[in-house]
Amino acid sequence: MPSHPSEPRAGPTSILHLELPSSLENTLAGGHPWIYRDHVPDRFSAAGGSWVRVCAGRFEAYALWDSRSPIALRVFARTQPPDAEWITERVRRAWSLRQRLRDVGQSAYRLVNGEGDGMPGVVVDVYADFAVLVTYADSLDVLVDSLTRAIEEVTGIRNVVRRTPGAGGLSQLSGRTPPKQVVVEENGLRMPVSLHDGQKTGLFLDQRDNRARVESFARGKTLNLFAYNGGFSLYAVRGGATRVTSVDSSTGALSDAREAFRLNGFDADEHEFEAADVFESLERRHSRSEEFDVVISDPPSFARNKSQLKTAKKAYVRLNAAGLRLCPAGGVYAAASCTAQLSPTEFHATLAESARRAKRRLQIFHEAGQPEDHPVMAGHPEGRYLKFVAARVLDLE
Ligand code: SAH
Repeated sequence: MPSHPSEPRAGPTSILHLELPSSLENTLAGGHPWIYRDHVPDRFSAAGGSWVRVCAGRFEAYALWDSRSPIALRVFARTQPPDAEWITERVRRAWSLRQRLRDVGQSAYRLVNGEGDGMPGVVVDVYADFAVLVTYADSLDVLVDSLTRAIEEVTGIRNVVRRTPGAGGLSQLSGRTPPKQVVVEENGLRMPVSLHDGQKTGLFLDQRDNRARVESFARGKTLNLFAYNGGFSLYAVRGGATRVTSVDSSTGALSDAREAFRLNGFDADEHEFEAADVFESLERRHSRSEEFDVVISDPPSFARNKSQLKTAKKAYVRLNAAGLRLCPAGGVYAAASCTAQLSPTEFHATLAESARRAKRRLQIFHEAGQPEDHPVMAGHPEGRYLKFVAARVLDLE
């Protein structure tokens, strides 16, 4: 029996039905799993964390209702509300996509990349024999138990912890508490990680391939801006850079970076670690006429939403112009951006403007995005956030 459009009603299994504007059909059918609150009729209400059968035109699926976040519904499954078995299958699929990384000896990687792995809002990172679960909306709490069991069953990892974005500390979901420091291996480099209070879940795993690329061109004096715990710096040293300068505002991260140098047998005292604001450090270094053969810049995101895009672009221009002033012709400038709202083309435009201001030209010879453990669904462009560009610095002749 046809129901009144957009009228919530209980279905045979008492799952609420919701008719959405048919204008959403193509987007949803194309794999975009978000339904914003302004597309949901005002009179619709459900308990946070309940499954809703949504329809838009001929598209039908089961989505998880969130009472608070701007994304009101996250689409998970087409034919049934996800149960424990469904979750296990998704985790198994994600596990198999990371097989190659395990085969080559990476012990830290993203096992579940939210939307990109068909589990919107859910992230699971593996650090040796620990798995760290992060969820990005209250409604996802209903999945935590089945996710924990699925991780244990599929991966054999017995120690599962949960981290709350923005808050410190871990909660234990199974097994034992991680030690203060877990040492993982990335492309043969040892990296000490704090799962308790490191940024993100401990490492910026998405930069793995880009860090490795730096090894191929690092040399002489290399400047690593926003160095965190020294990831890019380690590859630069292994690649033959004689003096690597790591700049970050976090003293804790820099002491981890020193520790990482020691763990790999590199003499931290031959290199420089500066706890400072990058913009100020660049000013000071410019006034001292410092120069570097290679500069790497990997800042945090400069925009949280579309309205901040303009300010973000300005920040990239200012940052990379200042970085480029320290990198004369013949050098290599490597710049990253994790601002999702900034497209690769727009990022290029900011780099061209930075180069113009610094009276340089940039010849891009390498470009990349996210590694294979950060997959993106075609149809969900927001999932493709990372941009990495390596360019030879030319003068204006
Ligand atoms: N390149 C790193 C990740 C960088 S994340 C890696 O490969 O692991 C961004 C880093 O920038 C964080 O460590 C944060 O502490 C630092 N940061 C943010 N704003 C900063 C600023 N204005 N000056 C210096 N460091 C800053």
